[in-house]
Amino acid sequence: MANEALIRELQDALGEAHVLHLPEDLIGYEYDATIERARPDAVVLPGSAEEVAAAVEIASRHRVPVVPRGSGTGLAGGAVPVLGGVALVMTRMNRILELDPVNRVAVLEPGVINLDLQDRCAEHGLRYAPDPSSQRICTIGGNVGTNAGGPHTLAHGSTVNHVLGIEVVLPDGRLTWLGGRQPDVPGPDLRGILCGSEGTLGIVTKVCAALVSLPPDVRTMLAIFDSIEDASEAVSAVIRGGVLPVAMEMLDQAIIRIVEPQMHVGYPLDAGAVLLIEVEGVPE
Ligand SMILES: Cc1cc2nc3c(=O)[nH]c(=O)nc-3n(C[C@H](O)[C@H](O)[C@H](O)COP(=O)(O)OP(=O)(O)OC[C@H]3O[C@@H](n4cnc5c(N)ncnc54)[C@H](O)[C@@H]3O)c2cc1C
Repeated sequence: MANEALIRELQDALGEAHVLHLPEDLIGYEYDATIERARPDAVVLPGSAEEVAAAVEIASRHRVPVVPRGSGTGLAGGAVPVLGGVALVMTRMNRILELDPVNRVAVLEPGVINLDLQDRCAEHGLRYAPDPSSQRICTIGGNVGTNAGGPHTLAHGSTVNHVLGIEVVLPDGRLTWLGGRQPDVPGPDLRGILCGSEGTLGIVTKVCAALVSLPPDVRTMLAIFDSIEDASEAVSAVIRGGVLPVAMEMLDQAIIRIVEPQMHVGYPLDAGAVLLIEVEGVPE
């Protein structure tokens, strides 16, 4: 066993079922979506902010590193415990605590799956703008950790533009709120600094997210180009033109030739590049 005293204290605080330390249990937590690999000494699965705080305080006292983890889809290696220590897996904390359609805010635990939030918002004609392509599986806490965006970031911005407040456990185990329930609270924007900090500044235990209306109408266009240079010039021209689509995604020829035979969506195989352009607004 890695550090018996550490494991025992974690088990006392979180219960034996929520502290993993056997090698066969740890294997699944030694990677994310990068090629990096490193095994934690222990995995804890907290069920509340107080349990996160307790685990961080214990790890801090034992001077072992703590690495928060959502679904492990990150592309920067941030959830890989390169120095070992405790992986704090936030997936049990997956409740939508509040969805207020009048004030258009939602209060979320960090393990809420992005798409689950989108589905609940849609029942009220609302959406949460950050929509990473991994939204079926990635968590709201991981989205804050990576300042995730998505296809619609072009017009709507990334996570930092849509998170109003964050409850966070600091490295010594203290629990505090940064930001609030409305934008631009007075004082330095510590909430903003946390977005994209990859779990290095604190562990997100709640998020107050701003919601926006679903668009009345959406149209998607396919633009076909002879070369990637032509497609790139078109992107610049569209942005210079001042009418910003909500999404512009480019596929080059290599990607088209991989995707089209599998998906049969109608991309011309001889195109140098294509642009998928999405606009939203009121119907004609
Ligand atoms: C197929 C695919 C498509 C993707 N598409 C996009 C995309 O369109 N846009 C985009 O931005 N990214 C995309 N990603 C990357 C990834 O899905 C996002 O970065 C996502 O936000 C990670 O969420 P996660 O729950 O998997 O976090 P993890 O990978 O578990 O963690 C990511 C980082 O956040 C930290 N973290 C996790 N939870 C917390 C917490 N509670 N408190 C503090 N820090 C925490 C971790 O320590 C780590 O540094 C994609 C990945 C894949 C595999």
